[in-house]
Amino acid sequence: MTGPSAPFPTALVREDLRDFTGYSSARTSAVGVPARIWLNANESGRPNEADPDGANRRYPDPQPAALVDAFADVWATTPDRIVVGRGSDEVIELLVRALCRPGGDAVVTSSPTFGMYAVSARLHGTPVIDVPQTEDGLTWRVDTEAVRAAAVEHGARIVFLASPGNPTGAVVPLREIADLADALADQAVVVVDEAYGEYAEQRSAATLLEEHPTLVVLRTLSKAHALAGARIGIALAHPDLATVLRRVQAPYPLSVPATRLALEALTPQALAATQRRVLETLGLRDQVGRQLRDLPGVRAVYASEANFLLVRCDDPDQMLRTVAAAGIVVRDMRHLPGLDDAVRITIGTPEEMSALDDALTHREIHA
Ligand code: PMP
Repeated sequence: MTGPSAPFPTALVREDLRDFTGYSSARTSAVGVPARIWLNANESGRPNEADPDGANRRYPDPQPAALVDAFADVWATTPDRIVVGRGSDEVIELLVRALCRPGGDAVVTSSPTFGMYAVSARLHGTPVIDVPQTEDGLTWRVDTEAVRAAAVEHGARIVFLASPGNPTGAVVPLREIADLADALADQAVVVVDEAYGEYAEQRSAATLLEEHPTLVVLRTLSKAHALAGARIGIALAHPDLATVLRRVQAPYPLSVPATRLALEALTPQALAATQRRVLETLGLRDQVGRQLRDLPGVRAVYASEANFLLVRCDDPDQMLRTVAAAGIVVRDMRHLPGLDDAVRITIGTPEEMSALDDALTHREIHA
């Protein structure tokens, strides 16, 4: 444990970016100027017909202060620890950009996992070292000790852990996350992607941030908050790392309409409604899990702490055809190593889940 006031180790930031201040936009370079007339950003003087009140006429604040404050409230942290981006996808890319040398260093992932960690690394020319998860037919487990060893061996700068994982649905215990962050503190940032955190029982790894300066937690409004179309994700990080991430970010990541939606989604009333939707999803997840386990031809339904179930079946082609015939699309996972018999099913509304049940119980899904 490194203590609440521990600094972020600057050596983890790409050497060539340590003194990089980023693009100076009209918006960021004029902060605090007591102006009446703004003629510094080549915006239109009059609004668009489609935007009569002119809310979208000007470039937005790169990190909208009201939204950053609202996230800080929700996460019981300070605004300097928050970086808002165009979905977690963008934040993942910022981490790779800021911490890995283009064409060098390494990131560690633990498959099966969310594909964007490897995509971002690959686009940066950074090698991806994979440490496969283990499973016992019921639950998946990240081998954090093997992850640590691989990160040390390959000089990784980032470890990406999804918790709950996609597509595994399994959480990484907080104790192991804390130990991993401590063990790699001089070398790598440990990123805990909690895109599905609202569905999990374990408390957020955000509660570890003060004590572990090299830990980063990702959250999104795309899942439980039901705003995937708005593209809003955040990183919770040490203030020094958050500053670096903002500097390597493209100038205006959030549109004005998206920011408005996100702000409304973080009001107490909207958060309470989100909580009710989450509870509904949890109930349905258990019910659908039981129904699936009872079906002939289903080999495994993994325990899930997210809003989906990972299912292995004797004949995945038949399963996919059966649901498709009922107009239902589930995710074919057979492209992932070790999942050549698997599909992932998102938990939708009660009506959608009974349509799924009807489709599956009225046909045998084995050949
Ligand atoms: N992380 C995980 C683990 C995910 O499964 C997904 C989306 N499938 C994302 C991040 C992407 O989230 P966002 O919409 O915020 O980019």
